[in-house]
Amino acid sequence: MENKNYNAFETAQEQFDGVAEILGLDQATKDFLREPLREFHFSIPITMDDGSKKVFRGFRVLHNDARGPGKGGIRFHPQETIDTVRALSMWMTWKCAVVDIPLGGGKGGVICDPHNLSKNEQERICRGWVRQLAKNVGPITDIPAPDVMTNAQHMLWMLDEYETIRGEKYPGFITGKPVGMGGSLGRTEATGYGVIFTLREALKELGIRPEDTTASFQGFGNVSQYAIQLYEQYGGKVISVSSWSQKEQKGFTYRNKSGINLKELLGITDNYGGIDKEKAETLGYEVLPGDAWIEQDVDILMPAALENEINKDSVKKIGARVKIIAEGANGPTTPEADQVIKEKGIFMIPDFLANAGGVTCSYFEQVQCNMNYFWSKDEVLGKLDSKMTAAFIAVSEMAKERDLYMRDAAYVIAIDRVNLACKNRGWI
Ligand code: NAD
Repeated sequence: MENKNYNAFETAQEQFDGVAEILGLDQATKDFLREPLREFHFSIPITMDDGSKKVFRGFRVLHNDARGPGKGGIRFHPQETIDTVRALSMWMTWKCAVVDIPLGGGKGGVICDPHNLSKNEQERICRGWVRQLAKNVGPITDIPAPDVMTNAQHMLWMLDEYETIRGEKYPGFITGKPVGMGGSLGRTEATGYGVIFTLREALKELGIRPEDTTASFQGFGNVSQYAIQLYEQYGGKVISVSSWSQKEQKGFTYRNKSGINLKELLGITDNYGGIDKEKAETLGYEVLPGDAWIEQDVDILMPAALENEINKDSVKKIGARVKIIAEGANGPTTPEADQVIKEKGIFMIPDFLANAGGVTCSYFEQVQCNMNYFWSKDEVLGKLDSKMTAAFIAVSEMAKERDLYMRDAAYVIAIDRVNLACKNRGWI
């Protein structure tokens, strides 16, 4: 997103085109699936706290809903672009399909930086977003969720606006709500834990014990924090994490070769996953450049920040010891970098499989909202483990059977399922 030459949508289409060839899809199906079904671009005018007016740009893209209502997060980011939202909505379609949940792919965003907005201003943006879209989103149409720089509070404001407009209760309109207000236990942990469930299976397949591994993470937000927690529970050791410094406007990598202390780092991290650099230095962490996370001498790399982080240049820095890349973030690897990773024989757990725990738990949240009966955390996480493990095994069996790169195998399964749903509905 920071790189002006990188276009996430082109990457998503390029990945799709490659798999469309493998699957031998006809031209009309290719044309249909490589573009979103519909898009909304709109303005959100709000009153700032000082009384002035400001207009923010908002988006919602629905890539495909052949298998069920659209599903996907809303991102708040100063560099948000429509092409990023398009790419992410397409990846959501494949993600829901690969874990076999009855939902399609959507994504939304607002060009804004919550760091520079008061709580009240953020609330007005959330309500304004819903006001623009109330007719086109909903529990059986398209269901939003939190994503980069949005959280449970944002979702609750959005739910409240939606229910106010509709005059009825629709707890299934949006997911990622606070627990006790229609949220599911385990949702906060779900994406990070989901990545580690797939990593655990990959390690099993490679015959490596988690306790014999080390890892380096990019990002220290929701996904990384819970992934690190579970990875450490399995016995793994994290030696470095990177995060964005709002103050210095650049990323830094924080390293402790004997293992980071998760609790200690959480104590010096803000709500956006930003680690306090001065405090980290005081605690004895080595402070390295932002991109140093990728060149660490570790077994596992986990990009969990933004897209386009493993590209044709940075991929060259990956150390010889790396055996697995588990993609927590969406679209962190470019197709050129994939080529190099394939040649190096690194085991790839692709984003839309690895980070599907979030949407899977969101689906559970909807199911619970519809029943108006809520499960215990253990029940949620147990069901999540089963879903993620089954999806991983299906993809890795496909990869072995057809001698495919894991990303391609995941795509083959997902695109085939969506293609079939479109065909069975008589769309294409
Ligand atoms: P978050 O906002 O909680 O955390 C993002 C982290 O990345 C922060 O620590 C931030 O400091 C860091 N970061 C940002 N820019 C950076 C840079 N240039 N260099 C180093 N660090 C940088 O976000 P999150 O919810 O953890 O999501 C991370 C990724 O995972 C995103 O790609 C998101 O789309 C994807 N994802 C999230 C979920 C979810 O449920 N949260 C689900 C699926 C996928």
